[in-house]
Amino acid sequence: MEELVSMPKVELHAHLNGSVRDSTLLELARVLGDEGIIVFSDVEHVIMKDDRSLHEVFKLFDLIHILTTDHKTVTRITKEVVEDFAYENVVYLELRTTPKKNDSKGMSKRSYMEAVMEGLRAVTVVDVDFALQTSDTRTSMKGLPINDTCHGARRKKIYVRLLLSIDRRETTEAAMETVKLALEMRDLGVVGIDLSGNPIVGEWNTFLPALKFAQEQGLCITLHCGEVPNHQEIQMMLDFLPKRIGHACCFREEDWKKLKSSKIPVEICLTSNIRTNTISSLDIHHFADLYNAKHPVILCTDDSGVFSTSLSKEYSLASSAFGIGRKELFQLARNGIDYIFADDEVKGDLTEIFNSAAKELD
Ligand code: 5GP
Repeated sequence: MEELVSMPKVELHAHLNGSVRDSTLLELARVLGDEGIIVFSDVEHVIMKDDRSLHEVFKLFDLIHILTTDHKTVTRITKEVVEDFAYENVVYLELRTTPKKNDSKGMSKRSYMEAVMEGLRAVTVVDVDFALQTSDTRTSMKGLPINDTCHGARRKKIYVRLLLSIDRRETTEAAMETVKLALEMRDLGVVGIDLSGNPIVGEWNTFLPALKFAQEQGLCITLHCGEVPNHQEIQMMLDFLPKRIGHACCFREEDWKKLKSSKIPVEICLTSNIRTNTISSLDIHHFADLYNAKHPVILCTDDSGVFSTSLSKEYSLASSAFGIGRKELFQLARNGIDYIFADDEVKGDLTEIFNSAAKELD
């Protein structure tokens, strides 16, 4: 396991509010309990529960959002989540979150995202590269390679890019607002749009205008696709040609054919799929077929807090369930560079990082 922790990794499917530490959620719940806003004992066992159906997961998110949705807490959880990924040598993190409007907290989608940015700036234990850089700042950042030795101490660096999520409960107008915000925040490291939220809620056609607009404007799109059997929607999503999709659990033969011929990379979240019973057992998980067919795949956590996992654990699980060796796992992580939404310069930097780690592996 230690080897997998120290291996450089690329995380492309992580939801901010799903990646919050349990200890932080409990602390926040205690405060709201003391203020009489919630009953702590009711909430404690919901936070600590292990197995949840997909339906229960979305109920949990409603609770998490009550605990986390004020500016100060959004900043705090962003900082902690980035630090947690950096600790286990995630060198590139694409973090996704749904910009939230909450009038009672004076929160707009923009101010929510500004609180996220503040969280990125607040990280001190590692160097965070999160905004598009001018060539000057890039040159000076070049002096800060990953795991640089600084005053005798090892400094880590993590590249963070953001995806703004559209929640399936949202209207076309709300989805469009998120896309426009993403376009305005491009210089701050927003690289794309995600469609997520309860898969049994909402219609593809509601989100399509905003997603099309985003695609036309050059934002990269990833879609939660096939978490429930909805053949028509899966086909429409694949026809849309997103840059990546997440999950792909309930595909039929025709869907696999279309996916494989399109070569759309798939973000695979093993623990999440098993915990939510979207896939009944790893023996029948589609990862094996896609991996053996050399279809682009990348292992991801989805919600490391909610599912008590980490990216290293996901690699360990893939190793034990599918018999993948150390070098192949390294290659699997390295392949992720091809599927990131950041620019070629970042891809070049990541390639260097993996090349130097490969020398240590030999
Ligand atoms: P947030 O966007 O609030 O930072 O992260 C939590 C949100 O991400 C959830 O409310 C939900 O909309 C979305 N999400 C997290 N995990 C999943 C998942 O496994 N499937 C889907 N469809 N959405 C998810």
